[in-house]
Amino acid sequence: MEFEQTTFDVVVIGGGTTGITAALTAAQAGLRVLIIESQLALTGTMANALVTPMMPTFVTSGTQHRQFVQKLEQQAQQSLQGPGSTTIWFSPETAVITAEQLCQEAGITILYQTTVYGVEVVAETIQAVFVQSFNHQLKIMTPRLIDTSGDAIIPRLAGIPVASGDATGHNQAVSFRFEIGNIDITQLRLWCREQGYTFNACDTDSFFEFVHVPNQPACGQLGAIFAAAVANGELEAADIRYIQGFSMPDKPNTLSFNGPQIPASDNTQNPWQLSAYVRTGRMMQQRLWKFLQANIPGFATSFINQEARMLGIRESYRIQGYYELSATDYRQRQKFVDGIAKGDWYIDIHRDDESVEDDAFKQKYTPGEYYEIPYRSLIIPELRNYIAAGRHISCEFAMQSSVRIQATCQMMGEAVGIAAGISFHDGLDFQAIDGQQIKKQLEEAQACHN
Ligand SMILES: Cc1cc2nc3c(=O)[nH]c(=O)nc-3n(C[C@H](O)[C@H](O)[C@H](O)COP(=O)(O)OP(=O)(O)OC[C@H]3O[C@@H](n4cnc5c(N)ncnc54)[C@H](O)[C@@H]3O)c2cc1C
Repeated sequence: MEFEQTTFDVVVIGGGTTGITAALTAAQAGLRVLIIESQLALTGTMANALVTPMMPTFVTSGTQHRQFVQKLEQQAQQSLQGPGSTTIWFSPETAVITAEQLCQEAGITILYQTTVYGVEVVAETIQAVFVQSFNHQLKIMTPRLIDTSGDAIIPRLAGIPVASGDATGHNQAVSFRFEIGNIDITQLRLWCREQGYTFNACDTDSFFEFVHVPNQPACGQLGAIFAAAVANGELEAADIRYIQGFSMPDKPNTLSFNGPQIPASDNTQNPWQLSAYVRTGRMMQQRLWKFLQANIPGFATSFINQEARMLGIRESYRIQGYYELSATDYRQRQKFVDGIAKGDWYIDIHRDDESVEDDAFKQKYTPGEYYEIPYRSLIIPELRNYIAAGRHISCEFAMQSSVRIQATCQMMGEAVGIAAGISFHDGLDFQAIDGQQIKKQLEEAQACHN
């Protein structure tokens, strides 16, 4: 078959949270950059799976994360942090346009609706990837490849072993997020207060969190109301296990729901299962919305504004790199000579039965404490010019639930963008780069911005 062929200095697979920062950093280093993205919009899970807001980090390495948040804020034209809150609230639409503008300004080429389905490897070196782009097939050649697919797509296509799930192969639970619009949030807030609801850190119309977690005293009477709905058959038990709606700057009267979390959705390795999760999740969204509309003040004239365009997959495949970051590293707040990103989110495993074993890991850091992610967790022995960043790096199942947070992903993205610059200017494969050099460059960049 004849393919149209094109060459770029670096190809970034996946224009998610991580891929954007990788691409921006590589472009700043002077490389011709191509992002290949399956969806029609950048930011991946962030906007396409409707994952807002961004959880806080109290440590940063590098500057891209901070610059992205500043650009988001300019785009939103209002503060993204509510009174007393460290979480960064945003709308998916603001995230998409922010990422689009940043990439356009940096001269980055993007192939949207383009999926990588094949890779050509010669002597442990990637030569090209094969893509399906709007039903056209292309061959993209590159001397260096950044994999930010979240799914370890390149090792899998090349037949290189990857990891997935916990010791028994079970993955974290999948969510199918959605938004409900035209809510009278003032009325909802007042009603919540009357129910003894104290969950909110900052209780304003712009920064409001509507949460139901069974047996959570801060939810007041909500627990009894939702339990009665299950008892009378309006809702199913799985529907109320995890209800969490966030307001968004730029989108008045709208809540973005961090759910439904699909019951028994612990297999992200099987496409048939993933489609079944979509069907289950869609029905759960309908049940919850109809219940809220009929029973909860503020929702009377509401409607489902949108459902996510991507399933909320927290964890699927992970590369098997030179170093596997572990839960022990989390507990020990481990630092590395080649530590190229910092993480401080707790071990946050989502599954139907959050076992006691998981609780043992859930010791949160005090602000300022952190672990480092070594460069060796981003590269693999089998491919010289390959590097990964984001939620699929080389780490244990439990540890993945900490490193996957958006801010940490952005720090990793910046580090691999720097690595691409070194590779380009010094003629080195990713495998041959000394991670200490990247750590030093990140520290210098950060010092300039402090
Ligand atoms: C339900 C849920 C709730 C979460 N809550 C929070 C939260 O509150 N705060 C927080 O900070 N983090 C949260 N997270 C985690 C965080 O959002 C993700 O871990 C993070 O955004 C992952 O970013 P990424 O760039 O590594 O991967 P992704 O966002 O998955 O991006 C990968 C990109 O690669 C593309 N891609 C994949 N394969 C191919 C291919 N073959 N060809 C072309 N393109 C491809 C995808 O379309 C996608 O755009 C949550 C995650 C989920 C699922």
